[in-house]
Amino acid sequence: MALIPPRPGKHIHVIGVPGISKPRLLVLGTGFGAFSLLSRISPRAFDVTVVSPRNHFVFTPLLPSTTVGTVEFRTVIEPVRPLRAKTRFMLGWAMSLDLDKRVAHCHSAVGETRWEQPYDAVVLAVGSVTNTFGIPGVEKHAYCLKEIDDARRIRRALIANLKRASLPGVRQEERERLLHLVVVGGGPTGIRFAGELFEFIRADLPRAYPHLRGQTRVTVLDAGASVLSAYDRSLRDYVHAEFARRGLVIRTGVRIEAVEEGGVRLPGGELLPCGMVLWSVGFAPSPLVSALACSKDRAGRLITDDTLKVPGLPEVYALGDCARPAGQNLPQLAQVAEQQGSYLAESFNARSTGRKLAPFKWKPWGISSFIGGGSAVMADSEGIGAGYSGFWAYQQWRIATWSQLMSLRSKVLVPLDRLRAFAFGRDINRI
Ligand SMILES: Cc1cc2nc3c(=O)[nH]c(=O)nc-3n(C[C@H](O)[C@H](O)[C@H](O)COP(=O)(O)OP(=O)(O)OC[C@H]3O[C@@H](n4cnc5c(N)ncnc54)[C@H](O)[C@@H]3O)c2cc1C
Repeated sequence: MALIPPRPGKHIHVIGVPGISKPRLLVLGTGFGAFSLLSRISPRAFDVTVVSPRNHFVFTPLLPSTTVGTVEFRTVIEPVRPLRAKTRFMLGWAMSLDLDKRVAHCHSAVGETRWEQPYDAVVLAVGSVTNTFGIPGVEKHAYCLKEIDDARRIRRALIANLKRASLPGVRQEERERLLHLVVVGGGPTGIRFAGELFEFIRADLPRAYPHLRGQTRVTVLDAGASVLSAYDRSLRDYVHAEFARRGLVIRTGVRIEAVEEGGVRLPGGELLPCGMVLWSVGFAPSPLVSALACSKDRAGRLITDDTLKVPGLPEVYALGDCARPAGQNLPQLAQVAEQQGSYLAESFNARSTGRKLAPFKWKPWGISSFIGGGSAVMADSEGIGAGYSGFWAYQQWRIATWSQLMSLRSKVLVPLDRLRAFAFGRDINRI
């Protein structure tokens, strides 16, 4: 039994397999969920088209490491090229869906071309966008970290600040401001970023900028009572104590009012001067998801059934950060998107041969976060329960991260990049 009954005259014949008509599967995105689905979907059963504004996958768990040069930008991406044998790839954005005509209205990511992409079933794997919560100045003055371009901008800004702080004639007050780095948001990504900055300041700054030794400061601001609020109490306490020991400041219960050119505006009007603000506070739904008229949760994620289908929208499926199966409180994590992509591919493949899969259920693989200084926190595998911390958690984080890498190429390059950074220092040239 085919997943979707073929519609006469509307099917594209796949090149090289003349006469075989297959349901057209449209996949939106090339992130964790989409990549996992695409690497498992059967090209014999489906005619697959991918539309995404980037022609590569980004391994986000190592993105913070690229901002300080521990790992190189190109090491953490995977090209879509190996998937080309079984998919057709279009570089562009899906702007909206016409559910009656079953087409996605698309806009090229290079140039102004618009087109309609027909489908029999569509998978939304479009992730999320940065949430600024409408706070003034965030878009203009703060740095977000979601894409390679963001990481590149952060690295350039960091180096520019070090260079400016080293120029003759810079007032001490201005130098202190330039060398003060503020991370807004004490979630896993914010803490990871602060950890990477600490590593860089500890290991590389004294070599490259000995005259700035001891002058760089890192502050983490969080609106809650603690950083890593979803983790167990013992892990949170460990992070607070470790950061304090290293001289990194954590300020909790702080809801910032604005981000300005010279710093962060705090409640009561106080300006916290700094040279750089990293915004790591939360995610909002993408405009494509926001525009769909269907049931959503409080964060704007599409509510799916337990087969990842969106009820009420014909042949629309959704996974990863942009969706949540009803009744399951899933975190926005790579492992969730990956498992859902793999489930949906299996489910499509199975249904094309008449089988039906059991409902999707997330199997937690353990959640860890690197915090710099050769240590990490590792939550229990039941999601966010008690866990352990320190050097062994760090080793486990490295192994877990390495084993999640998608190709042999990255599995070779990541350790080589680390070795290069260890032996010769991180690359902090302004190129
Ligand atoms: C800096 C950082 C560090 C992280 N670290 C970890 C970690 O250590 N462990 C962990 O488990 N998770 C981590 N995460 C979270 C993890 O990256 C996400 O949960 C995961 O990427 C979600 O996968 P996804 O497929 O839903 O979306 P994404 O991986 O975000 O992919 C979305 C894709 O959709 C494309 N797209 C967007 N809009 C459109 C459109 N309109 N049309 C077509 N395509 C579109 C995007 O270009 C992208 O290719 C991290 C996230 C960040 C930002």
